[in-house]
Amino acid sequence: MADLFANIPTIAEKRIALRVTAEAERAIRQGHPWLFESAITQQSFMGQPGDLAVIFDKKRRFLAIGLFDPDSPIRVKILGANKPVSIGPEWFQEKIAAACSLRATLLAQPAPRQTTGCRLIHGENDGLPGLVLDRYENTLVLKLYTPVWLPHLGEILPALPPADRIILRLGRRLAEQPGDLFGLEEGLLSGAPLEGPVQFWENGLRFEADPIRGQKTGFFFDQRDNRSMVEQLASGREVLNVFAYTGGFSVYAARGGARRVVSVDSSAAALDAARRNWAYNRDVFPVGDSEHTILAEDAFEALPRLAGQGRQFDMVILDPPAFAHRNQQVDRALAAYRRLTLLGLSVLTKEGILVQASCSSRVPAEDFFKQVHLAAAHAKRPLMELARTGHALDHPIAYPEGTYLKCLFAKAA
Ligand code: SAH
Repeated sequence: MADLFANIPTIAEKRIALRVTAEAERAIRQGHPWLFESAITQQSFMGQPGDLAVIFDKKRRFLAIGLFDPDSPIRVKILGANKPVSIGPEWFQEKIAAACSLRATLLAQPAPRQTTGCRLIHGENDGLPGLVLDRYENTLVLKLYTPVWLPHLGEILPALPPADRIILRLGRRLAEQPGDLFGLEEGLLSGAPLEGPVQFWENGLRFEADPIRGQKTGFFFDQRDNRSMVEQLASGREVLNVFAYTGGFSVYAARGGARRVVSVDSSAAALDAARRNWAYNRDVFPVGDSEHTILAEDAFEALPRLAGQGRQFDMVILDPPAFAHRNQQVDRALAAYRRLTLLGLSVLTKEGILVQASCSSRVPAEDFFKQVHLAAAHAKRPLMELARTGHALDHPIAYPEGTYLKCLFAKAA
């Protein structure tokens, strides 16, 4: 393992000293995990990604310590505030152990709802900004969204829970700048090579995920509890699962007793996995009694086409990818959500159930729910809310930006 990191420079011995605006001081004191470049008023020297930075308050006392990120507007990823801490192997051990213990009960669920796949570390929300760790049975997938972690990998990897292998995934920013990676690549980081997708249990259902080529780390664990809600509402229904990816919602709907499920996604590879995920569970009653149809099509074309054919479903699930990656895209995202609501309602029976989600962290929950209601009112199909939900329990929320997933369950008139 040592060779793997041989080219990664070690961090500067000297810590960068920073002073910040009063507003940033307040936010950091209250536990916000980011220091923006624009809030820095003084800096002792320019550091490299991952160097330790110490932030001092206006009385020149210790305020916080974090990892310096010279190429990001989020210039320091905060690791600890208010109380000086020493960042090293023990600190990583403690943080990672605390995050894993938070998920211990989820992974200890007895059959028939056994679960062996979940998120173990959820970035900022577990005190490790920009670092995600997902478990798929005996495979760990480490996903890094910022280069600040690279010089610390040698201390992090030994602190991870035991597994057959560790796979490395990189967020877009890192993947697009291979110069920053010092020879590291996406794929196997340590342990036994992976032969095809990994399999795992979720609430007693068998799924596969592709941690190397799949989206995110291969599966959307954040929707687990929403999938369970779909299961509870699906009995006897004909379900349309739009943006189905590998069919998570579809299989849960089938176990909930859906008569038929249609999965729509533009990715043929994801739908192949959806077909297999359905097949793994055919023996789980009553999945075998349900019928699964797959449509590899753009959602914005499939929905009008189905409506034109007079197709109706009594549950429609809409779980699109993030529509807003920047603040300037929020209005466009809200318009896309309204459009989707209209399209969803056009194939939803009277009294049918609409499940609509948004994973754009830049779209505030209130705005999202409001737009869905506006569109429904416009279609003269007012919604009776059954629930407003967020992420599953392995995705704790430690700061306002951590609440990215919102989901509405509603009955349409
Ligand atoms: N509901 C899924 C996750 C959805 S992720 C789950 O619970 O696992 C978003 C999905 O939307 C991806 O699978 C992506 O392939 C698909 N997608 C993106 N744009 C699309 C479009 N215009 N039409 C159909 N599918 C699309």
